[in-house]
Amino acid sequence: MKAWFQKIGYKIASWMYGRYGNDKLTYVLLISALLLSFLAYLPYCFFLYFVGLGLLIWSVFRTFSKNIPKRRRELERYMKIHNKFTGFFKLRRNKWRDRKTHVYFKCPKCRAVLRVPKGKGSITVTCPQCGERINKNT
Ligand SMILES: [Zn+2]
Repeated sequence: MKAWFQKIGYKIASWMYGRYGNDKLTYVLLISALLLSFLAYLPYCFFLYFVGLGLLIWSVFRTFSKNIPKRRRELERYMKIHNKFTGFFKLRRNKWRDRKTHVYFKCPKCRAVLRVPKGKGSITVTCPQCGERINKNT
């Protein structure tokens, strides 16, 4: 019996060889499909079942796809959007955490967020992104 399970395991592993597998976007699609299938039970929301089914099919397609560079580009695009969304909250959290020790401000040239220590008087800051030199009173 154990040999039979091992044989099945090897067959699945050899079948998955060269395929993309799971990533963060696949999990997000699966969880969204699950939530939408539950929401489809609400009145007048039956169409959500088909949206969820589409997301489920997309996630399964991504898992078994052999076009790995295309799947990586999809993940990269998703992560760019994800990081933009989470970065907003992360900055708010860090500003609150460092409110007594650091000052946050934006570079006037490239709009990058810079962080300098509080209470150092007048300092000159060089923006790491564009090289702009900024005089700041902290
Ligand atoms: Zn800058």
